[in-house]
Amino acid sequence: MRQNEGVSAQSAPELAHVRPLLADAVGLARQALTDLGEGEVGTHLGVTYEDECSATHRFAATLPGYRGWQWAVVLAAAPDSDRVTVSELALLPGPDALIAPDWLPWDERVRAGDLGPGDLLAPRAADPRLVPGYVASGDPEVDELAREVGLGRKQVLSLEGRLDAAERWHDGDYGPDSEMAKAAPSICSLCGFYLPLAGSMRAAFGVCGNEMAADGHVVHAEYGCGAHSDTELPTGAGSPQFDAYDDGAVEVVVLPEPEATPAEPISEPEATAEPAAVEPEVTVEPEVTEIPAAPASTD
Ligand code: SF4
Repeated sequence: MRQNEGVSAQSAPELAHVRPLLADAVGLARQALTDLGEGEVGTHLGVTYEDECSATHRFAATLPGYRGWQWAVVLAAAPDSDRVTVSELALLPGPDALIAPDWLPWDERVRAGDLGPGDLLAPRAADPRLVPGYVASGDPEVDELAREVGLGRKQVLSLEGRLDAAERWHDGDYGPDSEMAKAAPSICSLCGFYLPLAGSMRAAFGVCGNEMAADGHVVHAEYGCGAHSDTELPTGAGSPQFDAYDDGAVEVVVLPEPEATPAEPISEPEATAEPAAVEPEVTVEPEVTEIPAAPASTD
């Protein structure tokens, strides 16, 4: 076959190129699959052009576990011949087939975060992130230290390894573009909890020493958080947006008696009028009103 990847169900445009001798040999293709003995053969899905002498007939596969797969039967016929032969049978994934993810070489399957307690993970052979300790690493402080202690470490981080790490840390959760950093009142390099790294990384990275923040993580110098050492609490207690209100205390205020108002002159009643009803005398008691206490001081 020309390829062994997924096949397409759209064959109608290509039908015109397939020689009629090959296009009409559906029965021969189905018989070849039946002879294979892999169970029932589904409906004929079409035929596609391979070249002047060959074409592929496709049938739906009805095998359990192969939803969306198709049987492909390659037929061939010599240019001047009226005899068709079967070249190849294959089971291939169709456009909607359920297929496994792309294969990964074993040494690429371990991802960051996979390492657990007791696991061993050796660096790759000729890992470009590492160079022998006696080779100048390009980091003056590392080179100086290696000289001081003689042989130094067997391997040290190469320039490429340091650039890789710096890029990851910059783009990660503790980099300057993270949501936390954007909302922070100030940056790590101005924070008392910031412990700068040694060597060439010092210019941009340090470790946070605040257990309430990014404790123990490498943070970018321009990262930051609300637990910055210069963070000041708003003055006063409670929410700075509202005054405190004590609803458990009331103040009793005695209002002054209302002043007496002069009596209105009473007009003479007409002779025929009914005597007016006499209103009972009303005594005005001093009114007692409960009003809330004044707002407590928030200082
Ligand atoms: S407390 Fe916040 S601002 Fe200070 S070093 Fe840690 S992460 Fe940076």
